[in-house]
Amino acid sequence: MKENLGMPAFKTVRGMRDFLPKEAKMMKYVEGKVRKIAELYGYKEIITPVVESHELLAAKAGEEVRLRMYTFKDLGGRMIALRPEFTPSVARFVATTLRNEPRPFRLFCVGSLYRYDEPQQGRYREFWQSNFELMGSSKPEADAEIIMLTNSLMEAVGLNNCVFKVGHVGVLRGILSQEKVDEKTENEVMQLMDKKQYDDALKLVKGAGVSGKCVATLGKLVELKGGRVFEIIEKMKKYVKSYEMAVDAVENLHEILKLVLESGCEIDMTVDAGFSRGLEYYTGMIFEVYVPELDIALGGGGRYDRLIELFGGEPTPAVGIAHGIDRIMMAMQRQKTLLKTGKENRVMVIPVKSELKGEALKISRMLRDADIPVEVEVMGRKVTKALEDADRRKIRYAIIVGEKELNEGAVVIRNLMKREQSTVKIEKIIEKLESNS
Ligand code: AMP
Repeated sequence: MKENLGMPAFKTVRGMRDFLPKEAKMMKYVEGKVRKIAELYGYKEIITPVVESHELLAAKAGEEVRLRMYTFKDLGGRMIALRPEFTPSVARFVATTLRNEPRPFRLFCVGSLYRYDEPQQGRYREFWQSNFELMGSSKPEADAEIIMLTNSLMEAVGLNNCVFKVGHVGVLRGILSQEKVDEKTENEVMQLMDKKQYDDALKLVKGAGVSGKCVATLGKLVELKGGRVFEIIEKMKKYVKSYEMAVDAVENLHEILKLVLESGCEIDMTVDAGFSRGLEYYTGMIFEVYVPELDIALGGGGRYDRLIELFGGEPTPAVGIAHGIDRIMMAMQRQKTLLKTGKENRVMVIPVKSELKGEALKISRMLRDADIPVEVEVMGRKVTKALEDADRRKIRYAIIVGEKELNEGAVVIRNLMKREQSTVKIEKIIEKLESNS
């Protein structure tokens, strides 16, 4: 019996999760694909702190994220917070450390983020993202690259039927600013739009004293969406024709989508004219990625041209994307994606008796030197018990180190799948394992 030391049975904190080996493996698999895509597109990794100043993280996060930050004072009295997203950290880094370096920067980060969200399916208080930022270019080819890169990642992890929902914050913001709506109200309208509370958004706009034409235009835009992207874009142009900045925004979106198409990249896209995203720093194209099996976004991003300047850096236009690794994993599970990993045929080395432990360790070293994954029986169990355990865990080979065979420089190799065994000279073990795999 275990002694009770009077401690409670600890559980994870609400919203936090342990990852089982199978889940951890999947996460690392996705991260591996992220690194591969980064390499293919020329993005360099940076590692930034989980803890940043509250002021930095709150500056342009938008009300939704701002209210959900884990904020506290450290022992030195500094107001700090756990990062709810990567972009402010990368922007800070570019505004300071990389200040005088030649543009463009292609940077990526992978790690955990923290938001005090209400835990539910696909929404956790600790979650993981890979985040790609292309900084220094205001050109539509930079936006197109971020969309294409995201599509490449979705393909690389084996996801099918991804849909990219695309929009442009410059359309709604262009109309609102031409109508002289103040920035605070504009941000509130965008937040409501993001939550699809269109009626409330329109009410707020009316209350801000805009023209009847403005209300009518916004009303039409929020209804306008669809997969025939260039038709939708033509309609958008027509609806917003008296709002100069909005017209430029639609033109910009048009150019980006044309480039994606010209690249030959087969992406299923939907344009949504009333699309908005919670973060306040976006200035241009915005997008999210979905699969039919889940109604939550697997990733989201867009263009933010003024953030680096806001943090004291040189004016640096930028576009980026955050891929939600937890949700990508969920989507892979739903689509029953197979992980294409090597090295599954593990080996267990079992000494028949205590005096042969050293020999078992020596054989295990020899195999690992040949890049073969090995476990050694460490529970002091009898061979039959150890074999039962190996079988249960789907280990492919057992190497049984016994005195009789060892006297002849050999061991017994048992194939646990085929349930057959043979005596093999120690110097031939690797050859035998490789020929059977
Ligand atoms: P955002 O920074 O809110 O645009 O989020 C980008 C992506 O991160 C989303 O599309 C999700 O895939 C993922 N994400 C955001 N919040 C959470 C959360 N609370 N739990 C899990 N994934 C999240």
